[in-house]
Amino acid sequence: MKICKTIDDMRAASRAARHVGKRFGFAPTMGALHEGHLSLVRAAKAKCDVVAVSIFVNPLQFGPNEDLAKYPRTFEHDVELLEKEGVDILFAPSPEEMYPAGAVTYVNVEGLSDKLCGKSRPGHFRGVTTVVAKLFHIVQPSFAFFGQKDAAQTAIIRRMVRDLNLPVEIVVCPIVREPDGLAMSSRNAYLSPLERKSALVLHASLKQISAEFDQGKREAAALIAAGKKAFAQEPAVRLDYLEIVHPDTLEPMHQLVGPSLVAVAAFVGNTRLIDNIMLR
Ligand code: AMP
Repeated sequence: MKICKTIDDMRAASRAARHVGKRFGFAPTMGALHEGHLSLVRAAKAKCDVVAVSIFVNPLQFGPNEDLAKYPRTFEHDVELLEKEGVDILFAPSPEEMYPAGAVTYVNVEGLSDKLCGKSRPGHFRGVTTVVAKLFHIVQPSFAFFGQKDAAQTAIIRRMVRDLNLPVEIVVCPIVREPDGLAMSSRNAYLSPLERKSALVLHASLKQISAEFDQGKREAAALIAAGKKAFAQEPAVRLDYLEIVHPDTLEPMHQLVGPSLVAVAAFVGNTRLIDNIMLR
């Protein structure tokens, strides 16, 4: 695996990868890799001839009181995992390489970036779309792989790609869960054993909503109320939001007609976790 730490190196590797029309796939990550990330890598390997992964803990998407400094960084282990998966190129730039002093240009997907996590984490999605746009320009993949785990992020990136005519196809991969249902996340490493148990309430509330949907309930308010009941039994977990929205526009839905995204975010102790399901 070729490890590129500079933009120039990455561009050179990308040029070589795209030579003679090879299918070039890319999965951006913040590292501390787990099976969720590796599922993107495997999807990319299945679809593409050459696969690049990036590891970059993007300061721009963290708020001033968030976990940028303590975000788990396990670079050596990540490199081992990616090598085992047969990844061809790893792009691992420094913050200074990505944001030289004086950088003042941002990408913002208006009307979507302030929904769901964007409401409780102002500026978060602007940070995400800015870094992903930069990564797309540097890496120049033909396919980019993202996880449904971050459902709002995928909607916002799909819209950015459409609005800016970026020449990349977005592939969204299913959520990978622990055997007991907890969605895999680098932030699960923060959880104490007790918190780890409490964290199951996110998935439990989504399953409750899904069960009521299967029984024919279509009113969003009633479904949300059913999901919130699960949280009432877990006082150690503080709900941030539980919403049912259109999966493309992220606008709240009232009656569920067509595909609907149920998205939840909650604080388990100091750890903010997210999860979601699609109802069809
Ligand atoms: P992150 O490192 O958290 O920024 O995530 C990098 C990519 O991995 C994003 O596209 C995430 O949606 C995806 N991802 C993270 N966790 C999971 C998971 N449990 N299942 C599927 N994809 C995931």
